[in-house]
Formats: sequence, structure tokens, C-alpha cells
Amino acid sequence: MSQENSKLKHLSTEQVEDLMARYYDGEKISELLKEFSIKCSPSVIHAYFPQIVEEYLCPYCSVNLLTKRVSRNNKGFQKAELPKCPVCKHTEGANYCSCVNCRELSARLEEERLKKKKEKIKETYDLSKRKPIDVSQLTRTDRLYLSALLRSGFDENFQVINPVQNYIDKLSPTEKFCEEIVKTLTSKAILVVHPMSEVASFPDNEEFPNSWYTYLVYYHVNVSAEGVTRSNLLQELMNPPSELYTSNPYYCFEIWRKIAIEECCQYLLHHLSKLDFQYKVGEKTIAIFQELLETFSVSQIYNIVNRQIANASRYYQEKRVSKMEAANTVIGSCLRFGERARAEKWDIYKYGRDYSLPQTVISELVYNRILQLGVKGFDLPPDLSEFIEPVAFEDQVEKDNWNPNSQAKFTCEYNGFKKGDIALYVGRHDDNYSVVCDRYGDQYLVPHYVIQVKITNNYR
Ligand SMILES: [Zn+2]
Ligand SMILES: [Zn+2]
Repeated sequence: MSQENSKLKHLSTEQVEDLMARYYDGEKISELLKEFSIKCSPSVIHAYFPQIVEEYLCPYCSVNLLTKRVSRNNKGFQKAELPKCPVCKHTEGANYCSCVNCRELSARLEEERLKKKKEKIKETYDLSKRKPIDVSQLTRTDRLYLSALLRSGFDENFQVINPVQNYIDKLSPTEKFCEEIVKTLTSKAILVVHPMSEVASFPDNEEFPNSWYTYLVYYHVNVSAEGVTRSNLLQELMNPPSELYTSNPYYCFEIWRKIAIEECCQYLLHHLSKLDFQYKVGEKTIAIFQELLETFSVSQIYNIVNRQIANASRYYQEKRVSKMEAANTVIGSCLRFGERARAEKWDIYKYGRDYSLPQTVISELVYNRILQLGVKGFDLPPDLSEFIEPVAFEDQVEKDNWNPNSQAKFTCEYNGFKKGDIALYVGRHDDNYSVVCDRYGDQYLVPHYVIQVKITNNYR
């Protein structure tokens, strides 16, 4: 009954019972210690009393549980001791028991719980229940975004797209654009959640597993093409043909501008956050970058942004304004600086790419493969005329018959022409000549020395 190192070893069972009864009766402890020849501090004597042997057994070891006695002084306040197993130290009735058996049991239950959840995921996202989308249904944008994702996250075996979380910074310049890329494809079921996704990729709630974390799940490419093997199809999706895009100069221009705006936003956000300046890109920021891109390349806008951030940082230090206030001055001063630079025809030095912001996959894809611009994508302002073939004249004159005073007739019949947003850019050698087209089919008389015409968007 008594513990091995008990200070009560020298007492008989009856003596111990007598001692306990008198202790809880309130007799003076120091006298009890003396009478029973016990050497210990009066405040801890109850710790040597034999534990209460409970009637019920340990669920793991089938031995009686034991409960420690509490001190008579603290009875009212002290938490009652819980019955414990003398073998495995299991504590009965505890909210959390750390005994080896309970830990094993909860690990087993957790494993079963996970297994059930995994099965539920497999069942919910069973690929055999999916109806693949024919590749012809994909828009240019779908194919562009899909290619970027495949290039960033496709596994070696061409089976799944790995979770975006692992390459979110490499995929696109901003997180917002990344979200657009993924959600454009998931909203059309071009990408679907792969059944091998981890349990933790789904919020643990009643709807489990019907909603998922966009960047944590694996994705399956739910696209097919008649008569094309899957691996050939995926190869083609990864490398979309440039002609698909170059047949629409407006698309090319818009996507160039979009990537350029994204890269400007990325640069701005990165350098503001280095100064611990909080900033949220909104419509105003985008509108200002769009305006600057009419004249300047991304590489020049990096320069402009960099200067204005340096100014904002000085403003913050000298005028003791808040960081937010200082950050908010940056984009407005970029616009003012750009307008002045344009008016005064300053030569803005082109920055290189920032070493901490390497070119993203979507940017490389658009500049190099889709638009075939290479470094021009970064070093020139987005320009529609890059994608438009020169238009020949109706009545071309032979070189020998040039007469600087004669005129040729040009008809504006480029079929991508949109009313109001196009100007004509014409020229030969160093000569520059331009007219503004108002309507498709309009005819213009231009000097004969002009032998080629380019159409570009109408910006000043
Ligand atoms: Zn036990
Ligand atoms: Zn336990």
C-alpha cells in the first residue's frame, strides 16, 4: 500500500490509518510527526499517505486506478486529484492525457480521420466524373494563362499542376494577377482540383471538401482534343503557337500593356515594402502606369518610380508625416514627373531588371514566345504598331518616278481598324508624315515619297 520511498515505511497499516484520520481531523501536524517519528515538512505529509485505490480499472492496463490524497489545508481551493494508472500513468477524466496509450490512441484516431477525409476528397474530385473541355473552347487568354501555369508548376510526369504556393512569386509579377490566372481557369473548369490534393488544402468545415485553398491544391488539366494524345496536347498547351496571338494585333498590344503595368506595380510594391511603407495598388495606380506607358518603357518607369520613392522617403524623414501619407505621394509624383519629362523631352535612363525581381514566367512567355519581342517588351513602351504589317498603297509609284510634289492615294482599309482609336503613321527613311484616320475606308492623299503606312493606336 505504501510507496517505496515512503517516509511511512516504518508504520503498520493500522498506524497509517490512525495517522490519516487524525491528520484530516485537524490535529497539530508537528505533534503527529513527532509521535509517529516521521521526518518531513508538515506541509507535505499528505503526499506520503497511501493513495486511494479506485474501484474502476485503467482502460488500457486493467489495473485499479489510484488517486493521490490532497492536503487538508487547501481542500476547498485545490483541484481534486484525478485517478491515475500506476502502470501507464493514464489519467482518467483529464481533458488531455499525455500517457503513451492515449497518445497512440489519438494518433490512430487522427489517422482514421485523415483517411476518411482523403477518401472523401477522392470521391468528390474523381476525375472519371469530369467532362473534359475541348481545346477549341479555350480563348487566347485561357491558353496563355494555362501555358504559364504549366510552365511554372507542371510535374515532371505531366500528371498534375503542383500547388501554386510553391512558385507564386515566379509565376506572375503580382499576387492579384496570380489569382486572376488561376481563377480564370478554375471558373471555367479548365483546371479542376486533383483528387490527390492534401487534406490540409481544404478548409476544415461543414462543407469539406467542397471549397479549397486556391494555392494549396493540386490541379488537373481538364482539356481534351480529338485525335490528339494527352501528352501531345499538353505539350501544345504548354507552348501555344505565336500565330494564335499575332493574328490579333489589338490582343498583342493589350497583353503587352497588361504585363507592363503588372511589372510596374510589382516594382513599386517591392520597393515601398523595403522601406516598410504599406501601399495598396488601386485603380488610380493602374491608370497612372497606363498613362506613363504611353511614352515610357517599363525600364524607364522603374527609374521614375525609384526617384519618387527616394523623394517620399526623404519627405517622410524630414516632415515627420506618416509612412502611409508618404507612400501615397509616390504614384502622383510619378505622373507629374513623367508629364514634365515628356514635355521637356528628357532622356530617361533605362533601368535593368531588379536582381531581386527576376522576370516572371508569364512575362517571359508573353514577351519572348507570344509577342516575339524579347527585351523590347521591357525596353519599349507598349506599341500597337509593332504587330501591324505595313499597308501598301493602291497606286504605288516606281522609285524612279518620284516626284516630291505628286500625291498618292491611300485607303484606310486595315480590317482591325477601330473607329476613333487609330492614327496613321507613315514614313520613309527619315521622312515622317501622318494622317489621322476617322473611318474605315476613308481615303487620303499623301505625298508620293511615302511608300509604306503603319497603323498605330491614337496617342498624341
Ligand atoms: Zn494503464
Ligand atoms: Zn491516458
